[in-house]
Amino acid sequence: MNKKHLLWIISLGTLVCSLSCTKSTEKKEASTDEIEKIIAGMTLEEKVGQMTNLTLATIANEVDSTVVVDTAKLNDVILKHHVGSIQNVLTHAYTLEEWHSIIEPIQKLTLEKTRHKIPFLYCIDAVHGTNYVYGATLFPHNIGLAATRNRDLVKQAGAITAVQTRAAGIRYNFAPVLDVGRNQQWSRFGETFGEDAYVVTEMGKSSIQGFEGGDVSNPKHVAACMKHFIGYSVPQNGKDRAPAYIPEIVLREYFLPSFQAAVNEGTHTLMVNSAEINGTPVHASKYLLTDVLRTELGFKGVVITDWLDIVKLQERHQVAATHKDAVFLAVTAGIDMCIVPFDFKFTEDLIALVKEKRISEERINESVRRILQLKKDLGLFEHPYLEKEAVAAFEDPAYSQTALQLARESITLLKNEKSVLPLTETQRVLVTGPFANTLSELHGAWSYSWQGNIEKLYPDSLNTVAEVFKKDAPSTSVFDLSAWDKSNNWNKAALLKAAHASDVIVICAGEAAYAETPGNIPDLAFDSSQVAIIKELSKTGKPIVLVLLEGRPRIIREIEPYCSAVVMAYWPGSQGAQAIYDVLYGKYNPSGKLPFTYPRFSGTLLTYDHKLLDEAIEIVEPYQYYYEFNPQYAFGHGLSYTTFSYSPIKINSDTLTETETFKVSVTVTNTGTKDGQEVVELFTRDLVASITPSVKRLRRFEKINLKAGESKTIDFELTKRDLAFVNADLKTITESGAFEILIKDQKASFYCK
Ligand code: BGC
Repeated sequence: MNKKHLLWIISLGTLVCSLSCTKSTEKKEASTDEIEKIIAGMTLEEKVGQMTNLTLATIANEVDSTVVVDTAKLNDVILKHHVGSIQNVLTHAYTLEEWHSIIEPIQKLTLEKTRHKIPFLYCIDAVHGTNYVYGATLFPHNIGLAATRNRDLVKQAGAITAVQTRAAGIRYNFAPVLDVGRNQQWSRFGETFGEDAYVVTEMGKSSIQGFEGGDVSNPKHVAACMKHFIGYSVPQNGKDRAPAYIPEIVLREYFLPSFQAAVNEGTHTLMVNSAEINGTPVHASKYLLTDVLRTELGFKGVVITDWLDIVKLQERHQVAATHKDAVFLAVTAGIDMCIVPFDFKFTEDLIALVKEKRISEERINESVRRILQLKKDLGLFEHPYLEKEAVAAFEDPAYSQTALQLARESITLLKNEKSVLPLTETQRVLVTGPFANTLSELHGAWSYSWQGNIEKLYPDSLNTVAEVFKKDAPSTSVFDLSAWDKSNNWNKAALLKAAHASDVIVICAGEAAYAETPGNIPDLAFDSSQVAIIKELSKTGKPIVLVLLEGRPRIIREIEPYCSAVVMAYWPGSQGAQAIYDVLYGKYNPSGKLPFTYPRFSGTLLTYDHKLLDEAIEIVEPYQYYYEFNPQYAFGHGLSYTTFSYSPIKINSDTLTETETFKVSVTVTNTGTKDGQEVVELFTRDLVASITPSVKRLRRFEKINLKAGESKTIDFELTKRDLAFVNADLKTITESGAFEILIKDQKASFYCK
C-alpha cells in the first residue's frame, strides 16, 4: 500500500468518525435533555423511588416452590413508593418463562400506571454464568477463569452470560468481582480472579467487555457492576464483611488498578464494599466514593450500595446513631441507589432529609440523572419489554462447549509423580471422595441458590464426576461417599475393599459449597474426616489422584505426600465433571496456572509479590540471613503432559527511556510429544526503589498453543509506566535504576532512565 492510499484511508476514517461521533454526541445530548425534562417534572418521592432498590420478596411469595407476584404488594411498591428497580430471587432459580411472568407485569404496571413512565429495571447476580436461570450455562467461578489466563474465553463467557440474562428480561448484572484475592481464607476468594492485581485487571476487563459489549442497549448485552469498591477482600480476621486495615499506599498499589481499568472500560455501575477500611465503612466514605471514584478515576455511572449496608452503618459499624443519620452519611458519601432491600426505611428517611434541608434536592437529582441515564443506555425507554432477539439466542449448543473449554483450561495440575496421569482406558479406576457424586461442589456459590448447596435444585441433565467416568470409562467403579459427614459416617471396610480391587483411586475432596458469610472458617485446615479417608486409602498402596473442588486453598500439607497426583479443579461449573475426566484421561492436556499462592501453612499466607523481608529467616550467631519462600505451590504453577523450553530473553535495548517502548521477546518450544498450551508470564523485578520493592511483579501474560516440537516467539511490549509503583507521596511513579525481566527460567537485566 502506498502512502497516498494510506492517507486516503486515514482521512476517510476521520470523516466516518467525525460523522458518527457527531451523531453519537447529538444522541447523547438529546438523551440528556430528555432526562432533564423528566427530572424537572418528578416529585421528590418519585426521585427517591428511583434510588430505592428492593428484593423480590417485597412483591412476591413462593407457593409450592413457584413464585407468585402479589398484586397488592406490587402496587404498593411501584405506585405508592415509586420504586424503580428490584432484584434477586426468593430462594432459588427460575425458568425463563417464570422470569418473564415476574418481570413483564412489573414493567406493564410501571409503564401504564406511573406518571413519567420511567421503565423499571430488574437486577441479578449472574456471577459465573446466569446462575439463577434454569437452562443457562454455568461457567467456572472467577478463580478458575483466572487460571485459564485466556482473555478471549473469559470474554465469551461474559457475552453468553449477558445474552442468557437478558433473555430472562434482566438487564443489570451484579458482576464482575474486581476485588483482588489477597487473603486466601476469605469466603469470597473463589469469586475473585486471584491474588495478582494485573491478572484481576485483565480478566476483569475481558469479563466486562463480554457483559457490556460496548453497547448495553443491544439485546444481547447487560450492564455490568464492578464490585465491591474497595478493599473488601482483605479482612484482617479473614471473615466476610470484617474490618480491613489498608494503608493508602497499599490500597492504591494493589486494589485500585482493577477499578481504574474498569472505569476506563466504560463500566456502567459499581457496588460498594460492605465492610470498613481503617475504621471507616466504605459506604460512609466521601473520600473513596466521591474524591477517589468520581474526581480521580472519573467514574460517571451508578454507585449502588451492597445488601442492607445503610442499615449496617447504624447497627454494625456504629457510625450513625439513627437510621436517618446512616442514610445521610451514605448519600453524602456518594451512593446513588440503595439495596435496601426489604422495606421503605431508606426511602422515607431520604425524603425527610431533603425536606429538612440536610440534603439538597440537587444532590438527589444527580443520582436520579445517573440512574435514568443507565436505563436509557440499556434501551429500556425504547424497548422496555422482553426482547425476542435475546430470547431466541438463549440456547445454543456452542455455549456449553465454551463452558467445557473454560473448565478444561482452568483445571490446574499441581503434582504428577511418576506420570500417574494421564490415566489409561485399561486401568481399573475407583472414583470416590465426598464430592464425586454431587453437583453442588462442582458449582460452588451462587448456583441455583445463593449458597449453591441444595443438590435437588441442580438440573438432571448435569453430570457428576462419577457419572462421567462411568459413562466414558467403563472400567470405572464408584464408591459413593456423598453421605459423608463430620462423624466419619462411611463404611471403611467396603471402601477399602473397592480400593484394593482398583489400580488407581481418584478422590474428589475439598470444600462443601458455600457463599459469603456462611463460608467463614477459622483457618484453612483441610476437613479432618476427608484427611482420614485419604490416609486410610493410602494404606492400600494404590496411587491416589486427589481432585480438589474448593473455592480457596485448604491446607493439604499433611495429605499431599500420600497423593501421586493433585489436580486443582476450583469450582468448575456445569461442564466441570467432563473437564476433570478429559484432563485425567489426557483427552485435554492441562494448561491451568494457579492464580494465587497455594499456602503450605495456615499461618503463612504470603502472595507471590511479597517483599524480600517476608522470606528472611534471621540467624543471629553468626549474623546471617537465610531466605525461604516455600509455599505448597507457587503462583503461576501448573503442569502439562508435555514439556516446554524457553530461549534466552531478547530485549531491543538495555536502557528504557521515558518515550521508548521496550520490545521483549522469548521463544517457547514444546519439547515433549504431546500438543499443549502454555502461559508465558513476564515478571519484572525492581532492584532498588524508595519503597521496598516486591520480589517480582507480573506485567504481561500470553497463552499460546504449541504442537509437539513446535516453537513460537512471543513479543511483549513494555513502557516505563508498566514498571511503576505507588511511592510515599501516593504518586504512581517509575524510578530510574536497575531492573530485571523474568520469564520462566530466563532472566535479562536492563536500566530504566
Ligand atoms: C453481596 C453482593 C451481591 C448482593 C446482591 C450481597 O450480599 O455481597 O455481591 O451482589 O448481595 O445479591
